[in-house]
Amino acid sequence: MARAPARDGPIVVGGGPAGLTAAVALAQAEVPTVLVARRAGGDDNRTSALLAGSVAALETLGVWHLCRAAAAPLKVLRLIDDTGRLLRAPEIAFTAAEIGLDAFGYNIENRRLVAALEQRARDLPMLHWIDDEVTAAVPSADEVSVTLGHGTPLAAPLVVAADGRHSRLRAAAGIAVDRHDYPQTALTVCFTHERPHRDSSTEFHTPSGPFTVVPLPGNRSSLVWVLNPAQVEGLMALEDAQLSEAIERRSHSLLGKVTVEPERRLFPLQVATARRFAGRRIALVGESAHVVPPIGAQGLNLGLRDAATIAECVAAAYRSGRDMGSLNVLARYDHLRRQDVDSRTFAVDLFNRTLLTNFLPVQAAWGLGLYLLERIGPLRRSLMREGVAPSAAQPRLMRGEPV
Ligand SMILES: Cc1cc2nc3c(=O)[nH]c(=O)nc-3n(C[C@H](O)[C@H](O)[C@H](O)COP(=O)(O)OP(=O)(O)OC[C@H]3O[C@@H](n4cnc5c(N)ncnc54)[C@H](O)[C@@H]3O)c2cc1C
Repeated sequence: MARAPARDGPIVVGGGPAGLTAAVALAQAEVPTVLVARRAGGDDNRTSALLAGSVAALETLGVWHLCRAAAAPLKVLRLIDDTGRLLRAPEIAFTAAEIGLDAFGYNIENRRLVAALEQRARDLPMLHWIDDEVTAAVPSADEVSVTLGHGTPLAAPLVVAADGRHSRLRAAAGIAVDRHDYPQTALTVCFTHERPHRDSSTEFHTPSGPFTVVPLPGNRSSLVWVLNPAQVEGLMALEDAQLSEAIERRSHSLLGKVTVEPERRLFPLQVATARRFAGRRIALVGESAHVVPPIGAQGLNLGLRDAATIAECVAAAYRSGRDMGSLNVLARYDHLRRQDVDSRTFAVDLFNRTLLTNFLPVQAAWGLGLYLLERIGPLRRSLMREGVAPSAAQPRLMRGEPV
């Protein structure tokens, strides 16, 4: 049974995977926490490739065993240059076994992950869940006053804003965002296929962007197909059978006959980074802090590291009786997240722009880079290790330790 909200704990706003993880991590660390979130409608057909650190965090939070059966291991990641350019990059395969791991991580449907997080959130006595949304937030010197949809006022020394890319709380904190919209849209769809995927994810680089097939349990995979504006309408107008054929063609029949599932969604591609990750007693986590294009499975992995880090900062302040919304705590959170977010955002943005460029020297440099990665084992292995466990950010949960 959830306890009544405590005034000395934080309010977490947003019931996406980042907000739920932050709320669960805080409550599991015995910090009295209020979560303001509508329960998920289950209409997100995306999947998330969660890297090993994220899986370790979910295990430590008692969430992973609730959704493990719905996740498929990622043992091999293949990059294939399918741009048809004059200077083509070599095919390259990263294998988890090469760095002593069973898998780089696991791919899971967002709705299954969110359901597991919700189930865990309901079981934690220190978590008080209010099924509502925040309509206004006003920070002052020693608290943030929050108004809910049904009118009830709340106040807390800190608000953890996990309210997504159009964050109302970020605006209330007066934090500006650097944003760029790409001329690309991602089509997401899941499909079954004739041949086994053998726990391999394959990213075809096409002139419009990546076409990435990621395994799910059984003979089932998810697809993120990055398109230019001219392609979107045509593909969305196709019947399921025609889209299945188009996917089979684009993937060079890698998985044999393809049968798409009925749900398709479009996500316009964007990169956005908040200039500060915290201010005026409001800390940003997940897409309220940063949005990256769906390349190289970075977005939610970053969001989960935000959640783990804010939980660590807040729990430490709470245990020592310090103000959890103080300038010191917020500055520490901002500092701990900056390098990780900036370096990943830079890499993903550069990678996407490189794929889109027609400038021959850049294409040549890209091909050379992949050639060197393919040929030089230590370079490849250090890139894989950095991808799985970033040296810039290893909060305790990502190391399998409680907050
Ligand atoms: C096509 C695609 C594929 C991707 N694949 C991967 C991948 O393989 N690996 C990976 O790591 N990342 C991936 N990502 C990124 C990942 O999906 C996002 O980072 C993640 O979903 C963001 O989670 P979030 O909790 O920050 O935000 P959201 O999921 O947007 O959640 C925000 C929540 O806040 C709620 N909310 C908003 N305003 C309010 C309010 N005022 N009051 C209360 N609640 C509010 C919303 O209803 C929502 O529930 C992908 C993204 C795309 C587009």
